[in-house]
Amino acid sequence: MIANSCVTAYSGAELMTRFQLIGETEPVSFDLGTGNNTVGRAAGNSVQIPEPSISSQHCVISVSSNGVYVQDLQSTNGTSIDGVPTVEGWLQPGQTLQLGNLRLRLETEEVRIHVPGVPAPVAEAGPVTLEDGSLACSRNPTLAANFSCTKCERPFHGSSLRQVRLSGGKSVMVFCPECDGKCEVIPGAVKDSGRKSGFFSRLTQTLQLGWKKK
Ligand SMILES: [Zn+2]
Repeated sequence: MIANSCVTAYSGAELMTRFQLIGETEPVSFDLGTGNNTVGRAAGNSVQIPEPSISSQHCVISVSSNGVYVQDLQSTNGTSIDGVPTVEGWLQPGQTLQLGNLRLRLETEEVRIHVPGVPAPVAEAGPVTLEDGSLACSRNPTLAANFSCTKCERPFHGSSLRQVRLSGGKSVMVFCPECDGKCEVIPGAVKDSGRKSGFFSRLTQTLQLGWKKK
């Protein structure tokens, strides 16, 4: 069961504070929801505690963005916060709420939840290798990379690159689709695993020739 309470926007995710009452005298724990939590021995309370020293309607614990506020409902055995009898007052995390003979400590937990519609930051995947051990294209991981970007150093298959045909039509420059850096043939890389006789294998050969002339 998730008790949601004060929810604040937190760059792409929401930071949710979850309040719980943990038993100090009994092995019990209760989640507190946002709004009013009625506490008592009787059924129908949002927190029902079957303990003889607790009144059937003992107190109300309100959870809001301001914190946790406790109001005693004229209970027989009373409500105390850190040992001080309290008719109503704020209960801070770490403090002990005593209801009758039961002592409960307020604990909080910060829970980061993903907000639907806001893309969560995606961790950049490391280099992927294909079955034969060759480096995979970072755009199309089913293809072996035969180029790498000189700027961001990502590996690419020729078909993922942006091509600029130079005047004369024969030579082509290729650029990184991620950062627009110039891409170069990876020395010794698989010439073309995708299209055996297509444009890109010719391109690879052309660039390799250019590479060798240097
Ligand atoms: Zn790049």
